[in-house]
Amino acid sequence: MNVAFKEPKPALRPLDAIAEALLLPSGIDGVYARTGAFESVVDAVAALISRHRELGAEVLRFPPVMSRKLLERSGYLKSFPHFLGCVCCLEGAETAIGGAVERFENGEDWTTELAAGDLVLTPAACYPVYPLVASRGEVPADGLIFDVAGDCFRREPSRDLDRLQSFRMREYVRVGTAAQVGEFRRNWMTRAADIAGQLGLTGRIEPASDAFFGRGGKLMAMSQIEQALKLELLVPVRSAAEPTACTSFNDHRDHFGTAWNLRNAAGEVMHTGCVAFGMDRLALALFATHGVALERWPTAVRQALAL
Ligand code: AMP
Ligand code: ZN
Repeated sequence: MNVAFKEPKPALRPLDAIAEALLLPSGIDGVYARTGAFESVVDAVAALISRHRELGAEVLRFPPVMSRKLLERSGYLKSFPHFLGCVCCLEGAETAIGGAVERFENGEDWTTELAAGDLVLTPAACYPVYPLVASRGEVPADGLIFDVAGDCFRREPSRDLDRLQSFRMREYVRVGTAAQVGEFRRNWMTRAADIAGQLGLTGRIEPASDAFFGRGGKLMAMSQIEQALKLELLVPVRSAAEPTACTSFNDHRDHFGTAWNLRNAAGEVMHTGCVAFGMDRLALALFATHGVALERWPTAVRQALAL
């Protein structure tokens, strides 16, 4: 699917200039301080996505951490253990904690005393939704739609500005029958392409796969592509030859329905799907396409974003 764009195709700006103007280094690859200008675009894109929210969608905003047990039960360790960050704290008696501080003050390694706690860093905004649905009992006949967002963490350090360790994800999540999820995903592909067009972004939607872990992961990725369970909206950010996935359209089949025993009144296991917007990547795509000076962006794009 090709995303239409009305503006003449602008040349991509080199990301170095964007980094200097908009994202300040933190000393760790893939972790940046965001400037006011960058955030104004993230906020404007978020508001544009909100304007496309379907009637009846329940809005939830999640913190950057979630229960380790709930993520374990979702099967995350089987598929993506290499991405996961776990919160470790100094716990225990005052003497043990004091000992760690002492080691730090002596220039020694204090982190040996850290113990993994009951929290992990949320790796995608939709994971906390499924246990929540499970806790509410039977899924209604029309299914459910959620509008969720949160800070996400994935351990994939990179010098590339479009591959962050800490980034923001906005999602619409559908819980229902296979047909309901299929329709939701098809509608969102059209809508997301339309939004990209309004933003003057060039792009295409293509089958994709998740970066599953290990040798078994390669098979999972192949089967995901074969069944077209994941599609991505690819937009030039770093280069036109290697466009960046800015939004994904995911059909989880009955994976979460089975893990969380999500059923409707007829006892059918529910399917789930989500459309996930990478907010930092979308902002980056806009700056790469239209330049770092917001006031010089095409009028139609600024109007679409109410900027
Ligand atoms: P995924 O769950 O991998 O499909 O991710 C959903 C969206 O989040 C992607 O389409 C990207 O826009 C964004 N995203 C995923 N990983 C990263 C990352 N390392 N840095 C920035 N954005 C990301
Ligand atoms: Zn999701």
